[in-house]
Amino acid sequence: MKLQEIKNIDIVGKKIFIRCDFNVPMDDDLNITDDRRIKSALNTIRYCIDNDCAIILASHFGRPKDKYDERYSLKPIAKRLHTLLKQEIIMAKNVVQDDTMELAKNLKAGEILLLENVRYNVGETSNDKEFAAKLASMADVYINDAFGVSHRAHSSVEAITAHFDIEHKAAGFLLAKEIKFFHHIVNEPKRPFVSIVGGSKVSGKLEALHNLIKKVDKIIIGGGMAFTFLKAMGYEIGQSLVEEDLVGEAQKIMDEAKKLGVKFYLPIDVVVAEAFSAEAIAKVTTVQEIPKTWMGLDIGPATASLFSLALQDANTILWNGPMGVYEMDKFMKGSMKLSHAVASSFATTVVGGGDTADLVRITGDEEEMTFISTGGGASLELIEGKILPGVKALIIGE
Ligand code: AMP
Repeated sequence: MKLQEIKNIDIVGKKIFIRCDFNVPMDDDLNITDDRRIKSALNTIRYCIDNDCAIILASHFGRPKDKYDERYSLKPIAKRLHTLLKQEIIMAKNVVQDDTMELAKNLKAGEILLLENVRYNVGETSNDKEFAAKLASMADVYINDAFGVSHRAHSSVEAITAHFDIEHKAAGFLLAKEIKFFHHIVNEPKRPFVSIVGGSKVSGKLEALHNLIKKVDKIIIGGGMAFTFLKAMGYEIGQSLVEEDLVGEAQKIMDEAKKLGVKFYLPIDVVVAEAFSAEAIAKVTTVQEIPKTWMGLDIGPATASLFSLALQDANTILWNGPMGVYEMDKFMKGSMKLSHAVASSFATTVVGGGDTADLVRITGDEEEMTFISTGGGASLELIEGKILPGVKALIIGE
């Protein structure tokens, strides 16, 4: 798979459409609380400025209902881009109406036009061809730098690519880095390769588990999804999260691991609570003794030690999903200990998924990780072995 990259096409003096992912968290007063996603788009934008391009930026933000809604406006993004780039950002009032098309047409080298939220337009999420054609008509070159939505067949991500040949479309620096990193780690990992999978449900990660099991040396399961596996092993799991219909599937994954010689780790003790609440009474119990009316909300201390031990000889660690309900202090210790263990290992460490990225920020281990992916769903689909819709058209020879 050879991805067309921005550095390999001729963009000098051209009009460039860059699909970014500016879907940043904001508080109720529309203050940006974390501008990492904006910062990670700057490499590509600056590269285009340096190459005398006229730049049109597009992004979605939240889930507006196909029409203008001030809460989802990209105006705060324009302000932050202005601060970071120290240059004027021309803010469009809409996405593809006449006045915006006119602004795009008259855009000069070095100028930056930010379109309004592409999801204000009904055609974006339905991958509408007409909407894509209008977006495409604004520019000579299309750049996708929005890894976080590249697993979605949306108009500004997928349909738009049909309007550019392979010399006029490419992955931006961020997208290229994400794709290459995951491709490398999943297909040519330094062994032992250990994958840690957590989070709430088996269902969301089933395909990823099936693909991973064929590639890893060890797999560590924590979080809510562990209970479906523990149930398959015949344990009483009380009121813990479980997907009854996937108990058989969980057993199949464990059988497959055995067949392939993959070391399979499950919690041996858990923090249980009487209710799903930060105020609930909690205690540690072995998985053999989970009370019928209690629920498991974190891995226990013995499990954290066991998992850390299993990580000691790892050369590659891929982590997706917290070990417990890390949003509540009481149930974040397991995730915290594991985060420290991953951070202090000598392995190449890759963290994927919004929650896990958030978690390693909270635990202070962010700087110690080799790579933190900006996209949750997209990184999972790469682990599943899929080619993302927004990336397919950027592969040379496709
Ligand atoms: P996911 O989106 O599938 O990666 O799941 C992340 C969510 O899983 C987080 O919000 C955690 O609070 C939740 N989670 C982790 N462990 C548990 C658990 N034992 N019971 C319920 N929810 C959990």
